[in-house]
Amino acid sequence: MTHYLNYINGEWQQSANNQKYQSINPANTNEIVGEVENSTAVEVDTAASYSHQAFVSWKKLSGAARGHYLYKAADILESRLEDIAETMTKEMGKTLPEAKGETARGVAILRYYAGEGMREEGDVIPSTDADALMLTKRAPLGVVGVITPWNFPVAIPIWKMAPALIYGNTVVFKPALEASATAAKVIECFKEAGLPNGVVNMVNGEGGEIGQRIVDNPQINGITFTGSDKTGKMVGQGALNRGAKYQLEMGGKNPVIVTNDADIDLAVEATISGGLRSTGQKCTATSRVIIDEKIYPTFKEKLLKKVKEITVGNGLLPETWMGPCVSEKQLNTVLEYIEIGEKEGATLIHGGNRLTDNGRDQGFFVEPTIFENVTTDMRIAQEEIFGPVLALMKVKNLEEALTIANDVEFGLSASIFTANIQNMLHFIDDMEAGMVRINAESAGVELQAPFGGMKKSSSHSREQGQAAKEFYTNIKTVFIKG
Ligand code: NAP
Repeated sequence: MTHYLNYINGEWQQSANNQKYQSINPANTNEIVGEVENSTAVEVDTAASYSHQAFVSWKKLSGAARGHYLYKAADILESRLEDIAETMTKEMGKTLPEAKGETARGVAILRYYAGEGMREEGDVIPSTDADALMLTKRAPLGVVGVITPWNFPVAIPIWKMAPALIYGNTVVFKPALEASATAAKVIECFKEAGLPNGVVNMVNGEGGEIGQRIVDNPQINGITFTGSDKTGKMVGQGALNRGAKYQLEMGGKNPVIVTNDADIDLAVEATISGGLRSTGQKCTATSRVIIDEKIYPTFKEKLLKKVKEITVGNGLLPETWMGPCVSEKQLNTVLEYIEIGEKEGATLIHGGNRLTDNGRDQGFFVEPTIFENVTTDMRIAQEEIFGPVLALMKVKNLEEALTIANDVEFGLSASIFTANIQNMLHFIDDMEAGMVRINAESAGVELQAPFGGMKKSSSHSREQGQAAKEFYTNIKTVFIKG
């Protein structure tokens, strides 16, 4: 069994309390993927202190010099893509092709932000004083705390750490426990890229201890969090209380609207891919499918035919299309919501059960599940399940579809399938979501585009692309009198 340590000030270190957490394979709980430190708040303080020291010289490097380290880290990550993807599949269950795709995405994000070190920043603003020059420049925050979930254990940490670093910040990173072996392999790439000691630090352990201390530590000036809205609320409140800058990316209850003129085959493909890939464990996963009544029977028939073809199993096997839930807790949550849906009066038309046959008894497998006759007041239509469960809802027209689509507390991503330009424009204007997608699945936003949600899904800042600069830097207004 591999033992993964904390990474503090350029060294792999044990936690002082000598407690360990075992990361297991959700497809086969007999397999321990790795053992990691179950650290204490003391290690966060140590990491923050070194990170604070490292910031002094890191921020003084040119953007190009910082970019050089990111290019190197990208090359190393790329050379280890197969190994890291396999660890990810073993640790959190997504299929190997998805894990490879995610790791490749991590490489691309690193390269994108490496280049950012050479791009223009700031504006020259006309002064009313003819003898003065007025301009803005960007200043890093200092030490940034990075708290991430398990569902994208390579891409999410990188899309936070890469912009943090290129803009001159240093990092204290706490990965989700369920994905800590994968995270350690990402950190190894930064170490081997030669990043100066203390610039990137990683502390493993429980959210209530390590995450909480990141939120509370006065040397950490910014906190970027991705996870559930329940945890996000605490993180945001804690950061606000001590005046730290924060960014929260949280859950979704993402709809797909299918109008009566839609390409039904395309809509079915996108619903299955967007809703059930990664076992529905994506913040942008489709969970509600709102279909015009005129095409409802055809859509349902085609959807059921495709869903029946889905193979559920160990993500390492080439024939597997959908892996397990990440943990027993997540599996139980999914099964509870299925029970809730049935009690609320929705009609279960496919799936609904845990899978334990064909060697799946040691894993957290569940069938892809579809409900119909779902109404907007039901919990399965309102709450994020984070599993492979789709709720079908029948509507008379686009107006009703949009009312239902917006009738949730979340607003992350949303799709429409239609051939009609007026429908598209109406949807773009009136859909309350940070990402609106036309004739494309709800999941999958390109890395150079802003990513984030409205309503309860986000603290309303954006990640990725140029938008990331807003969080990882502060604007300084400079006035030079000649
Ligand atoms: P989670 O339970 O909220 O955990 C997220 C991270 O927060 C983990 O590292 C967790 O640590 C840590 N944490 C737990 N308690 C904490 C506390 N009191 N203070 C600070 N940190 C704490 O979420 P998850 O189950 O890992 O991830 C699933 C959720 O993430 C879903 O809601 C999904 O929609 C959301 N998500 C959103 C996006 C997006 O960009 N909008 C992307 C992906 C996922 P431990 O778990 O290690 O204890």
